[in-house]
Amino acid sequence: MIHEIFPVGPLQCNCSVIGDETSHEAIVIDPGADVSRILDTVTRHGLKVTQVLITHGHIDHVGGAMKLKQLTGAPILINKNDSPQLQMLDMQAGWIGIAPPGPVTIDASLEDGDAIKAGALHATVMHTPGHTEGSTCIYFPAEKKLIAGDTLFAGSIGRTDLPGGDFEKIMQSLHQRVMALPEDVIVIPGHGPATTIGEEKETNPFLVG
Ligand SMILES: [Zn+2]
Repeated sequence: MIHEIFPVGPLQCNCSVIGDETSHEAIVIDPGADVSRILDTVTRHGLKVTQVLITHGHIDHVGGAMKLKQLTGAPILINKNDSPQLQMLDMQAGWIGIAPPGPVTIDASLEDGDAIKAGALHATVMHTPGHTEGSTCIYFPAEKKLIAGDTLFAGSIGRTDLPGGDFEKIMQSLHQRVMALPEDVIVIPGHGPATTIGEEKETNPFLVG
């Protein structure tokens, strides 16, 4: 598995470029901004982007999606329950003081249990509402990697005070779904450093006890 993780945009969203070494098919997750850097990474590894996955409809995760789609032809997938977030991207741009990215159109909804493929790489979609109603995590069981979006961070969890946020739902998603994964699963959060399920079980103040 080729996996490049780098922060994009003013809020430093972790963008993932995940590629299969044999078929050279690739998935980009959360292209929030800096599309030229994303494309440089894709080109450097000789990859072809076949899908653009968005963990949730916040501008720092989805801001570069349409540009990336235009340049690669790859479809954009995000859970349909985050359509309200996509309708208010201009307002979100105002919150963080950046130019509005223009409308985002979804090619398909990411649904719980959906299988994602790039060559020999396989991932499963986990619908984990709470940070937003349409928040998802992308789990690669063979590689034991979870792309967690803003549901889980090293030492913290996603905020639930923005429109569509729900504290009870994020706790339910975390306890019933995310923390049920094996302890040695590596977690790539939407922002900040990587962690593991086991580390968070032991030390995350929202999850211990
Ligand atoms: Zn977010």
